[in-house]
Amino acid sequence: MAIVDDEEAKRLRRALVTAVARSVSDRRVLRAIAETPRHAFVPEADLDEAYADEPAPIGFGQTISQPSIVALMSAALDLSGRERVLEIGTGSGYQTAILSRLAREVYSVEVVPELAARARALLDELGCGNVRTRVGDGYEGWPEAAPFDRVVLTAAPREVPAALVHQLVDGGVLVAPVGEQGKRQRLLRLHRRGLGADVEELGPVIFVPMVPKTWVS
Ligand code: SAH
Repeated sequence: MAIVDDEEAKRLRRALVTAVARSVSDRRVLRAIAETPRHAFVPEADLDEAYADEPAPIGFGQTISQPSIVALMSAALDLSGRERVLEIGTGSGYQTAILSRLAREVYSVEVVPELAARARALLDELGCGNVRTRVGDGYEGWPEAAPFDRVVLTAAPREVPAALVHQLVDGGVLVAPVGEQGKRQRLLRLHRRGLGADVEELGPVIFVPMVPKTWVS
């Protein structure tokens, strides 16, 4: 699998960065979007679809998130490049690839083995050597690698899973869409403060639901 990144892809990606920059100003995040070939993560889409600021299907009933939402969530994590980040919901691996450019280490958990395998192959091909992936239940997090400076969820649980807050360092930040499918979901940013947390709402969003723990074998 060779990733072809021709002039047309680069032109469309520059236009996407311009579109995303209307809502997100973080320069490191914009650079990461400019340098990540999104079309490689949506092999069934044509180039125009891959670089539209829209979600797109990636199989198994899942979607790659809209680029401006990926940018918003990445900016909300406030990454300097020194952090260890836990991501729940690897999906296509696109958000993972973006995070790999913004943080020191990324740990990403995906429940669908086929998606995890495809993402892993792509991340290797793109040279994202600071990313570790595993197939597992995101509600459990990655206890052996905890604590993390940041946690980000790319599928929506009904409530913020306590185990994931416990895997944050004191002062760490978690960003997650929260709410029931079909109902209004809210993007939340939580700052861990000792045994408690401050929570702020960043706005309404639409995400695929996080598969309930009991469905995961
Ligand atoms: N960030 C992804 C978007 C993925 S969509 C991207 O850029 O492509 C959400 C992903 O979360 C899906 O791949 C879905 O399979 C995964 N997911 C859902 N429930 C999960 C769970 N309990 N644990 C881990 N991953 C889960």
